[in-house]
Amino acid sequence: MRAWVRWSAWLCLSLMLWTAAAESTHTHPSQTDAASCSICVVAHSASPAVSTANSIPVFAAVALLREEDIVAKARLDFSRLGIRGPPADL
Ligand SMILES: [Zn+2]
Repeated sequence: MRAWVRWSAWLCLSLMLWTAAAESTHTHPSQTDAASCSICVVAHSASPAVSTANSIPVFAAVALLREEDIVAKARLDFSRLGIRGPPADL
């Protein structure tokens, strides 16, 4: 691995860790400052409601599968295996 790839990976990882640490530990001197902070607004906002509408599945044929027999052509060449015939009577 090249040195600049390794160095940039460590830089990105350290920036991500420092950002996570800063976001989780930052404080505001007053409540009005916290109201204007985008991190605090997102952290204290209500979580989105989950939709409970159940949809009915639709089963429809998309395609028809047709099976076809596949026969592999096997070849065995005995002359290449070095098998000799039975000994002949002299
Ligand atoms: Zn904040």
